[in-house]
Amino acid sequence: MDEASNLLQFDKSALVEWLGRAGHKAFRARQVMHWVHQRGGADFEAMTDLARPLRAWLHDHACVQALPVLAEQRSRDGTVKWLFDVGAGNAVESVFIPEASRNTLCVSSQAGCAMACSFCSTGAQGFNRNLSSAEIIAQLWWAEFTMRAALGLPDGERAISNVVMMGMGEPLQNYGALVPALRLMLDDDAYGLSRRRVTVSTSGVVPMIDRLAQDCPVALAVSLHAPDDALRDQLVPLNRKYPLAELLGACERYLAHAPRDFITFEYCMLDGVNDTPGHARSLIELMRGRFPWKCNLIPFNPFPGSGLRRSSPQRVAQFAAMLADAGIVATVRKTRGDDIDAACGQLAGEVLDRTSRRGARVVPIAAAGAAPSALPGHSA
Ligand code: SAH
Ligand code: SF4
Repeated sequence: MDEASNLLQFDKSALVEWLGRAGHKAFRARQVMHWVHQRGGADFEAMTDLARPLRAWLHDHACVQALPVLAEQRSRDGTVKWLFDVGAGNAVESVFIPEASRNTLCVSSQAGCAMACSFCSTGAQGFNRNLSSAEIIAQLWWAEFTMRAALGLPDGERAISNVVMMGMGEPLQNYGALVPALRLMLDDDAYGLSRRRVTVSTSGVVPMIDRLAQDCPVALAVSLHAPDDALRDQLVPLNRKYPLAELLGACERYLAHAPRDFITFEYCMLDGVNDTPGHARSLIELMRGRFPWKCNLIPFNPFPGSGLRRSSPQRVAQFAAMLADAGIVATVRKTRGDDIDAACGQLAGEVLDRTSRRGARVVPIAAAGAAPSALPGHSA
């Protein structure tokens, strides 16, 4: 028998083609997708509406290979973080963030990141490797069915309503694996999320922003962090390759295809570095007369050795107020899961847990490829 193919890797067209090569009809792909992505099925024998010969064939040729979970941590505020083993000593993290009106999963695209932004702990660890489409979707698959069970949701009700590609890695540097994973997130026969509820966050890989507009236009968030090239060159080294004028041009082109009529700029608030009234004025000036945008201010989340400090709440409020006075919607991102280091920029994929000493709960799980089970004691 050939090595079994992991069904988590296939978007619909790839699954139709793969099944078709073995003589299976196209509508079987939809049935298999329902079992895997909508019911969390991994046992082909239980997929009773599939013809028996197809079940037997899948048993011999396919598998649903989840990522081994090294640890699961639950924050006091309901945030849940998983550390997944991706082999060779590498690990990636995903974070489930419950809110009143939505439940968001923050998903990783790479083990490590090559972009080396100075304020990011993933950047500080360097680049290890790209995740495959299956490894990206495995994070959603695991989180969706684990949380459905944990929250006691009735059959068919989804746990996760929004996905943000804001975990570890630069998604647009892993474009080939990203797009099939996005297509599965959007597919009504899989996770069925609307384009506005799936967000790709990028540090500004200009050519890939243009390709995403053509291939799979989901909501776009751009990590700006500075109002001029000199400062952005320091904070986001990729700016030396794609400076602001090019990045803003790509954002404007993207808007013609985007599911929303604005671009979100993320702006990490660093004390004394990019958070003064002068910076706010420059930002307003930079964007004057361009295109609709919103600003998401993220108070810097410190990590060991960064040498940077979080802006004071007064500074953040002043910055937000200046943008609001100029007619720009500015929100301040709430820090979630800070007792388990699950906040933006703190995901380091460390195999050794460094939060247990602070009293957070760590639940090691030894399941690889098994169907997720309920989390004991979780309350929504
Ligand atoms: N690589 C992509 C997506 C992952 S980072 C990107 O850079 O956009 C998700 C967001 O968290 C980005 O806006 C990033 O700039 C921000 N971020 C990174 N480190 C941070 C930190 N230490 N504190 C607050 N935000 C941070
Ligand atoms: Fe990579 Fe994003 Fe971190 Fe920059 S902020 S190092 S692009 S993960």
